[in-house]
Amino acid sequence: MPNQNEADQIIAAGRQVETITPGTSGNLSCRVGRDGFVITPSGVPYHVLTPDDLVTVSLATETVVAGHRVPSTEWRLHRAIYQARPDVAAIVHVHSFYATLLSTLGRPVKAVHYQLSWVGDEVTVADYATYGTDQLAANAVAALGSSGAVLLKNHGLVTVAGGMEQALAFARDVEWVASLYVKALPLGEPDLLTPAQLQDVRAQFRHYGQPPS
Ligand code: 13P
Ligand code: ZN
Repeated sequence: MPNQNEADQIIAAGRQVETITPGTSGNLSCRVGRDGFVITPSGVPYHVLTPDDLVTVSLATETVVAGHRVPSTEWRLHRAIYQARPDVAAIVHVHSFYATLLSTLGRPVKAVHYQLSWVGDEVTVADYATYGTDQLAANAVAALGSSGAVLLKNHGLVTVAGGMEQALAFARDVEWVASLYVKALPLGEPDLLTPAQLQDVRAQFRHYGQPPS
């Protein structure tokens, strides 16, 4: 069984992503230790997941080092992101409706609302490749760059962050901004926030909410 803390975070996040991704689509992982990550099993519904179902994969050897289930088919995608981005400690992949809709058009999620600001200036689209392949992993890493999210062409959304709670919040935010954008388009071309305006929002967010007690 993987580290209790990461396992609990994945199980809790799984209950939540089930509301935005159909069936057993999508997958979740957390970095563990220096050389590994714990990831959801392939094709198991989120609401029945227990810590015992999770699988730990070694970054170095690309083999399962703990767990008895078959890991998510996207373990290569998760591994490639952890290798490329030392700052990333959690990854969420979903087939949420509006983000996936934009991915089919090859259109990035644009900053029609400041809620995208903490994810990036926009969410770009990675070139298409078959799910579960090294090519998909390479395309996603290239398009992700240093941002918090990337669309997979004709497939879905990936968000990355320093922790699972934030990666999950990124997924919800991208999906919400994508829905706003898609619903605005038939009414006209919505105005976009500029990189400078988004930078101002990030500065403003430093004072958001209640002060620490
Ligand atoms: P897994 O059930 O193998 O994680 O696959 C779901 C998915 O979204 C593949 O891209
Ligand atoms: Zn997928």
